[in-house]
Amino acid sequence: MTSLRPETRAVHLPRPDLNGSTPITIPIYQTSGFAFDNPAVFADGMGRPDGAFVYGRLSNPTVRALEEAVAGLEGGPGAIATGSGMGAINTVLLALLRPGDHVIAQRALYGGTAHMLADLTARFGIDVTYVHEADPSAVRDAVRPETKLLYLETIANPMTQVADLPGMAAAARAAGLLTVVDNTFASPILCRPIEHGADVVVHSTTKYLSGHTDVLGGIAVFASDDLHRKVWSYAIELGATADPFAAWLTLRGTQTLALRMERHCANTRLLATRLAEHPAVAAVHWPGLPSHPSYEVAAKLLPDFGGVFSFDLTGGRAAGEAFMSSVRLALLAPSLGGVETLILHPATTSHRSLDAAGLAAAGIGEGTVRVSVGIEHPEDLWADFEQALG
Ligand SMILES: *Cc1c(COP(=O)(O)O)cnc(C)c1O
Repeated sequence: MTSLRPETRAVHLPRPDLNGSTPITIPIYQTSGFAFDNPAVFADGMGRPDGAFVYGRLSNPTVRALEEAVAGLEGGPGAIATGSGMGAINTVLLALLRPGDHVIAQRALYGGTAHMLADLTARFGIDVTYVHEADPSAVRDAVRPETKLLYLETIANPMTQVADLPGMAAAARAAGLLTVVDNTFASPILCRPIEHGADVVVHSTTKYLSGHTDVLGGIAVFASDDLHRKVWSYAIELGATADPFAAWLTLRGTQTLALRMERHCANTRLLATRLAEHPAVAAVHWPGLPSHPSYEVAAKLLPDFGGVFSFDLTGGRAAGEAFMSSVRLALLAPSLGGVETLILHPATTSHRSLDAAGLAAAGIGEGTVRVSVGIEHPEDLWADFEQALG
């Protein structure tokens, strides 16, 4: 089925054969374990990620269907689904790193990942060098004998910087490093990092892949069977396993991912373009606008620019807070990637641990508002934003 386009593959999921007919949708296999006729099959299933189903922490048919679906969308041979995005990121980092190793990571990182890297340094002496997301020469300069991996995000939060995946991954490969890419914001509809040289792709499936703000999950997709097996044997010890019901909800979301991404992107283009012309708005940050510092990198890498953007209000923090309390349709809430439009004020929520200097270094203003644009009618969203701007 690999010749089919992602939109088609997402709809036609792998189906189990039940004596000559197949359920059209994947059932929820709500069982913690599996019984065997043949002890040799039992033993084999314990040792590999694609063997017989043995025990729920190792694998489950509903979870494996999700793994195969997302691996297919990302273009990798295998995947490991987890209970959350952080579960996937930690499984990969802990499986691939040892005390004393060195990591190169882009500076603009999801908050949970940034905190995790700081913890790896404090607990295991794993040093991290931070670089700009589109500067391959900074990767080459940062390499040490103990450097193991480069960590990137396709599109970062909340200023939506886009990583130069081909350039950065090539620099990593030349130095013998693995490249891990968090592709949550782009989804495999906008970007498939393995095509650009990534070795591992991670997602918070909580966001676009599930898409309906009703389930937590994560997944790691591998570019090779070797890496898949290596991380799987650690994953089953760590136990950050996906639950079959969560996997089923996520799988259902993946079937409409392509449709939703189209609408998320189109709605965002309309809002970002109109806000950029509004007198109460100082700047709009979306890589689809020529004013964004990542515009050129993004235009080469992505067919469209995603459903998250942020904007700075000329009135600073007071204007940001006034906007937050004036919207009627958009919801004031964390997370992103769902069908509903959500807004948040990074300076007081997602990035509250940064002081004024840290916020400035991240390019986040006191009056910056982050928006995860949903799939509502764009004119209803614009009417809401316009009235909230006063
Ligand atoms: C939400 C998010 C995560 C963490 O995922 P959880 O499902 O909340 O654990 C990681 N990376 C990015 C880019 C995210 O947006």
